[in-house]
Amino acid sequence: MTEEKSLNFLEEIVEKDLADGKYKTIVTRFPPEPNGYLHMGHAKSICLNFGLALKYGGKTNLRFDDTNPVTEDTEYVESIKNDIRWLGFDWAEELYASDYFEKLYEFATALIKKGLAYVDDSTSEEIAKQKGTPTTPGTDSPYRNRSVEENLTMFADMRAGKYRDGEKVLRAKVDMAHPNMHMRDPLMYRIKHAHHHRTGDKWCVYPMYDFAHGQSDSIENITHSICTLEFIPHRALYDWFIEKLEIYPSHQYEFARLNMTYTVMSKRKLLQLVNEKHVSGWDDPRMPTLSGVRRRGYTPASIREFCDRIGVAKRENLIDVGLLEFCVREDLNKTAQRRMVVFDPIKVIITNYPEGKVEMLEGENNPEDPNGGTREMPFSREILIEEDDFMEVAPKKYFRLAPGQMVRLKNAYIIKCDEVIKDSLGKIKELHCSYIPESRSGSDTSGINVKGTLHWVCAKHAVPVEARLYERLFKVEDLGEAEGDFKDYLNPDSLQIKTVYAEPALLKDSSDLRFQFLRKGYFVMDPDSTPSKPVFNRTVTLKDIWAKKN
Ligand code: ATP
Ligand code: MG
Repeated sequence: MTEEKSLNFLEEIVEKDLADGKYKTIVTRFPPEPNGYLHMGHAKSICLNFGLALKYGGKTNLRFDDTNPVTEDTEYVESIKNDIRWLGFDWAEELYASDYFEKLYEFATALIKKGLAYVDDSTSEEIAKQKGTPTTPGTDSPYRNRSVEENLTMFADMRAGKYRDGEKVLRAKVDMAHPNMHMRDPLMYRIKHAHHHRTGDKWCVYPMYDFAHGQSDSIENITHSICTLEFIPHRALYDWFIEKLEIYPSHQYEFARLNMTYTVMSKRKLLQLVNEKHVSGWDDPRMPTLSGVRRRGYTPASIREFCDRIGVAKRENLIDVGLLEFCVREDLNKTAQRRMVVFDPIKVIITNYPEGKVEMLEGENNPEDPNGGTREMPFSREILIEEDDFMEVAPKKYFRLAPGQMVRLKNAYIIKCDEVIKDSLGKIKELHCSYIPESRSGSDTSGINVKGTLHWVCAKHAVPVEARLYERLFKVEDLGEAEGDFKDYLNPDSLQIKTVYAEPALLKDSSDLRFQFLRKGYFVMDPDSTPSKPVFNRTVTLKDIWAKKN
């Protein structure tokens, strides 16, 4: 290792805990709620939790935080597992908070017996009123002083299904005047006669997040329970339950959630985009979901690199999506196979090239990779180049094709534009060029130096394919700051579909390869592809050297 990266604050905590002998080994967990698909924010959390355990020789559990039967589904469980594996991580154990329902019920009963929990008949409105405000203390519920026996019987009756939804709740008896609102007798259980994706109809009482999460951490002997900043005010309650129950003392640590420019990062909002059909699904390539960026062609390595580069912050911030795109480009530059694809073709006739002749030329798959191999591409008298690689009246320092000017065709020959052929309306129909036979790439003896190199395809062999060109899903940088409905800021031009013309090698074994379309960007085949209609997604653009120079 040449350069030591400084430790993030969580690594510092872990190193100290290990050095102090507080733990022999660390245990972290990734605790998704199976109510949606994972997004880039979750990737950050996954890289952090799994990364810490990998770095310090510990383990990471995958725990589904499935305490809310109404919004959860096994479809989400499967997609979450798939996404974590795709990112390159594997969990020690696959666990479910719902597996602890019996245990949690016992914990709740234990607190009732200690006089630290009570059944409350107040309505949710009444409970909200009892809470007071951050500056004024709350008031006790009239049911706060029920006897232990009465509470035990009622809680058992709640479980047995004797009450309707919302009729009663179980609350922790903490302090209605506590400066932390979360400590003002928070709910532990609510009644919900709902089918659960794993426990079916066995339960009609379900634990609240605050009573499930810390206790699940404790059951699993999690040493470092890492969550996002909004849980800071919950930490006192997390500790209170563990202390009163006298169970394994897990500790909660908070870091800043990942927010990215030009997108939203909340399952609830992403679900709206899906349900209201602003996108084609959770895996629409414009979505910041892992299934979306995967379909778009982002690589797991580039996402891990991105998460590493942004580090772990203690304060909310907004990360430029450009950094993610940079990481994607860097990775793809090393691995993507180069192909030539013409987007807006103009026909070039090479007048001194024999009619009917087809020659197979060779091109490197990837100049960055010495073992990348080569591919063949046909060349003949008629080829296609990009319309905007030609200018009839060219400015100085224009090195592409212009009347009387020479360019090199990539992996092929130098050509010179002799004549511009127009139709009756004055529109350019085709270009007549001549080629220099001795200038063939790899065996060029022409001695001619040209500055411009163009991509091209053989007109006869060109394969039309559908290119899906993505732009940012939203028009504004910081959606957290934008007023009103976030959907008002959707970019109406976030998807452009275009038929483009590819060299035949693009379609050989292309399904799981990633490509650089020379001078155009990185692309990957989309699962919508059929043999008769190949579809490619633009993963990310290249930097446009010409535009930059000017
Ligand atoms: P959302 O608000 O999108 O629904 P969530 O926090 O409710 O997210 P969970 O499934 O509960 O989603 O989250 C699983 C884990 O991922 C939690 O530990 C959570 O803190 C973390 N996480 C969620 N969103 C982000 C984010 N944007 N940045 C970092 N970590 C996140
Ligand atoms: Mg959540």
